[in-house]
Amino acid sequence: MKRFSFFLTGVFLLLAANSNSQNLQRFHRKATLVDTHNDALSELVLEGKDLAQPLNVGHSDLYRWRAGGMNIQFMSVFTGDKARNKEGYYADANQEIDSLSILVLRNHEQLALARNMKEIKRGMRLKKLVMLIGVEGGHMIEDDMAKLEALAKRGMCYLTLTWNNSTSWASSAMDEYAVDAGTKTMNKGLNEFGKNVVRRLNELGIMVDLSHVGEKTFYDALAVSSKPVILSHSSVYNICPVFRNVTDDQIRAVAANKGVICINFYAGFISAAYDQRITSLQGEGRKQIQDSILKVVGGDSTRMLKIWSDYRDKELDAVRPGVKEVVDHIEYIVKLVGDDYVGLGADYDGVTSVPIGLEDVSTYPKITEELMRRGFSRRSVKKILGKNVLRVMKANMP
Ligand SMILES: [Zn+2]
Repeated sequence: MKRFSFFLTGVFLLLAANSNSQNLQRFHRKATLVDTHNDALSELVLEGKDLAQPLNVGHSDLYRWRAGGMNIQFMSVFTGDKARNKEGYYADANQEIDSLSILVLRNHEQLALARNMKEIKRGMRLKKLVMLIGVEGGHMIEDDMAKLEALAKRGMCYLTLTWNNSTSWASSAMDEYAVDAGTKTMNKGLNEFGKNVVRRLNELGIMVDLSHVGEKTFYDALAVSSKPVILSHSSVYNICPVFRNVTDDQIRAVAANKGVICINFYAGFISAAYDQRITSLQGEGRKQIQDSILKVVGGDSTRMLKIWSDYRDKELDAVRPGVKEVVDHIEYIVKLVGDDYVGLGADYDGVTSVPIGLEDVSTYPKITEELMRRGFSRRSVKKILGKNVLRVMKANMP
């Protein structure tokens, strides 16, 4: 009899867990999920991959977005500090917008490319995955306001004022760090043209994205912007002190501006231990370890590289953060300024390593699960999953 009642309790617990997880899935699917930064255009599409097919590489494809419950995905239009096309950065931007347009045209029953709230709502009503253009790096306007306006016409919904490289009118976080370290000299912040860029973005209804920018540029832009800003993919400096993350003062300033900070999932921006470990495995550290392996294998460089890569993976996996550590960043911002100013900008396909459990765009329900486990209200979770970003979009867009 006792054994039978144990059995019944077991069955009951199993059923309860099952229905809990079904409830959670249902809640996650009903909430509007928005992610403000994905690099699949430059990482996969330019390499010839079709995002409408199930891919066994990268972090993103249509199947995995569906599994993750994605509703609105900002696609990053990105080029690095060296242009891909001989015509320059602006041509690079247009090339990526072309590739996104073709992807949407070919899959118009499942995808919609939107430029304003009306088109977003229409796409959502038709149960399509809505894609928006985020231009990552002010260098793509090539110091020319007419090019900014042309990108606006093509559907740019935010402009990240800088990438890691500064422009002639805005200094990046990477360069401002170098100035502070004494390894670089330059004027920090926005110059007059830069301030006009912010004003023009406000007028056109395009969000000012302050991820990647230096602190001086950040505060200069906030002083000029008449609209709420976005940080499309940045995490918390006080948890993981790296140049790309934002300080408590910056978080408070975004809250005062009624903007939103969207958490970047990159392992090295989430965990300080991971950042330290990966730094120690680069440059001189890497050389020393490789040299010592080379001695052991008698100068066989192929074998050395294999052993090195296994060693490196093992070392990094030992400190790789998980879902909890990502949610720590969300909770930190909520505790500091409330639940209105944080969202998700995972940076999938833009980063080399992601946390355990958040391997690709199918894993967003795990964020919802962890927030609920911590006792966040449904209302709060909905804000974090998308409503906060939607609020900032509405405040900006025509
Ligand atoms: Zn970036």
